[in-house]
Amino acid sequence: MYDLAIVGAGINGASVAHEFAKAGKRVIIFDMDGIASGGSGAAGAFIAPKFSKGGELKELLHNAFVYSMEFYEKNFPKLFTKTELLHIAKDEESSEILKQYKQNTSLELKEPSQSFLSTLSEHAREYEHICIDAGVVNAQAMCKAMCKSAKYVEQKVETLVYDEGLWIINDTYSAKSVLLATGAYESVIKEPYVKLRGVWGHRIDIKTSTDNPYSLHQNVSISPSSSGELAIGATHNVHYHPQSASEPYDLQKARAELLEKAGMTMKLGNVDVIRDFTGLRSGSFDYMPLIGKIVLSKETLASKDICFKTKKPNYDEYTYYPNLYIINGNGGYGFVLAPYLAKMLSEHILNGKKINEKLSPARLFARWARKLV
Ligand SMILES: Cc1cc2nc3c(=O)[nH]c(=O)nc-3n(C[C@H](O)[C@H](O)[C@H](O)COP(=O)(O)OP(=O)(O)OC[C@H]3O[C@@H](n4cnc5c(N)ncnc54)[C@H](O)[C@@H]3O)c2cc1C
Repeated sequence: MYDLAIVGAGINGASVAHEFAKAGKRVIIFDMDGIASGGSGAAGAFIAPKFSKGGELKELLHNAFVYSMEFYEKNFPKLFTKTELLHIAKDEESSEILKQYKQNTSLELKEPSQSFLSTLSEHAREYEHICIDAGVVNAQAMCKAMCKSAKYVEQKVETLVYDEGLWIINDTYSAKSVLLATGAYESVIKEPYVKLRGVWGHRIDIKTSTDNPYSLHQNVSISPSSSGELAIGATHNVHYHPQSASEPYDLQKARAELLEKAGMTMKLGNVDVIRDFTGLRSGSFDYMPLIGKIVLSKETLASKDICFKTKKPNYDEYTYYPNLYIINGNGGYGFVLAPYLAKMLSEHILNGKKINEKLSPARLFARWARKLV
């Protein structure tokens, strides 16, 4: 019997496995295709904040960025490379936002090398830029290292049954609590209000004669080069979804698109694509992640005492699955958010520490129920 069974060994599931192991708990983690076989295996895994005007997501990502930089460096120094991030605005509008960001941020601003800037394209030099200390994670090795103390089972979780205070997984394994960390894949527990959008992404590793010392972000993300290799990745503007596409994914065309976008920032010499990674990342309607207990919609809706029309719902009134939790919806910031959210979620499960309601899956239920009744 395990303290926690985790479904999904991407960066979210792996980060919680790591936290539970640190607390001396027994963890079993399942993945149907291998550790980091989903979105996490495709990620460029850049650790960066969100350079936007303001709001809850920006604040959450700022805190997660500061936390995760320290977390990776302290716990997994061999799988984390500290680099300077040179983020360049894409257009006039984002230049203005970046200017404001620079005026207000508490992060230390760096001066990028003038000689490097002069090698960038006109499109890159035309717009505002920011340079800060940031990092890149070795995505697959990190997920594996974080799962090390857990029992790993390569198996699709098909059934979850709650029986006499324990969850029974695939009729074989038992655990006190279960965590769903299934990313953009179909969830084992289906609740109509949990709607996550999968966005397809593509990363290529290339050989190139061009040297790049920075994590360079503009239309796509370009990693620093090491031994003549670097990675280029994007999860936006790649118009494809594996579930709705009528044609197979055109790898050649998508490679060319990534290289063209990278070329808008810097000229890359003698390019040879050596590896492709593709995958889905998942996001919620309000772009905030989801962590915490899952509402039983049918049972909650049946309650005559709850007013579902209210704009100030009381989440404590809802009925929840016993000891069943979710971590998902990290969007394009899975590696930035996961260690921070995993700590919050673990403290909640183990010590009952409250989670900010803005992150609760109950907010999705409240919104869905308000429209329904
Ligand atoms: C191309 C690309 C580039 C990205 N770049 C960055 C970046 O630079 N920085 C950053 O922070 N984030 C980045 N992201 C986003 C980041 O990768 C995601 O936010 C993150 O991987 C989500 O992790 P996850 O654990 O929720 O999901 P996943 O990694 O998708 O893991 C879910 C896992 O669950 C398993 N699973 C699902 N259902 C079951 C089941 N029933 N039984 C068993 N196993 C199951 C799947 O096999 C999968 O391995 C990028 C994403 C992509 C696609």
